[in-house]
Amino acid sequence: MRANIRQLRPYSAVEIPCRIKLDANEAPYGLVPGPIAVDTNRYPDPEARELRNHLAHTLNVDAENILLGNGSDEVIYHLITSLGGPVLYPMPTFVMYGIIAQTLGETSVAVPLGDDFDLDTNAMTEAIRRHNPKVIFMSSPNNPTGNSFNRETILEILSLSRGIVVIDEAYQPYSPRPSVVPMISRYNNLYVMRTLSKVGLAALRVGFLVGAAEGIEELNKVRLPYNVNALSQRMALMALQDGRLTEQNTKTVIAERQRLFEGLSRLDGITAYPSDANFILIKTANAKTLHQRLLQSGILLKDMTSALENCLRITIGRPEENTELLKAMAEARGTTL
Ligand SMILES: *Cc1c(COP(=O)(O)O)cnc(C)c1O
Repeated sequence: MRANIRQLRPYSAVEIPCRIKLDANEAPYGLVPGPIAVDTNRYPDPEARELRNHLAHTLNVDAENILLGNGSDEVIYHLITSLGGPVLYPMPTFVMYGIIAQTLGETSVAVPLGDDFDLDTNAMTEAIRRHNPKVIFMSSPNNPTGNSFNRETILEILSLSRGIVVIDEAYQPYSPRPSVVPMISRYNNLYVMRTLSKVGLAALRVGFLVGAAEGIEELNKVRLPYNVNALSQRMALMALQDGRLTEQNTKTVIAERQRLFEGLSRLDGITAYPSDANFILIKTANAKTLHQRLLQSGILLKDMTSALENCLRITIGRPEENTELLKAMAEARGTTL
């Protein structure tokens, strides 16, 4: 076993039994599929043409600008496999950038975020000059902090970087700010990553990258031919063409985010951070105790304390789940905070 693999701490996707699951940034509603037909004896369309065409159409780009992955996790894998390192990203952020870089034996440069969890412009530009990264990942809105990064700083990084800059827009459907997809034609080193996982289709494992056709063509060489299976292709297309599922999720989540944010802010001893995503980060003394206490009443949040002191991440659930969470937190407050 190679040393980088022996030292790797795998992404812990442990299933903790719970009644109300608010730990993984999944959407509150899923697809209720009608009958779907696929020729199970045939391989799926290796190019996923129909799905890619649909995505291209909605994003106002060409199908040649889109690389599909088995979730955006796989797209990250393709990027780092093709480009190599160093891989640079702000910290804290989505952990897979670092895990996949290490898996592939590439070095990572993690640059701490600045005030208000925004990019530290000086630290980022300094690190880019020093390490000359082949690829930079910036999740905006950022997981786990929930904020979007300053657009001017992103533009500065795009101009400065000789490597590829990937803006991970996993949470874009929930953000009030515009996507950077239209900027792809202006910056040939800009790539935008998206996923269907946060809008109600996590089970399907569909993620994708949007960018210049020449770059997508190169990345496409490392993609395994049938990486998105036939059921996922068909169901994703169905759900996107219909549109009701994603619409219901975005509408509910955005309204509930506001209600939950106000409710959390009213609780003594809790700091809730503003969010453009489908989750809210909170800070409180004894976060671990609160996490455990909520779990005892069946509510699972994400313990972020190893990345951010005394912080928990709360995925926005269904209205009734959020109400129950607020009640349980108010009750736990007296004893834990
Ligand atoms: C959840 C998440 C992903 C993973 O998406 P998949 O398509 O499910 O692999 C990617 N980026 C960020 C920032 C995420 O939070």
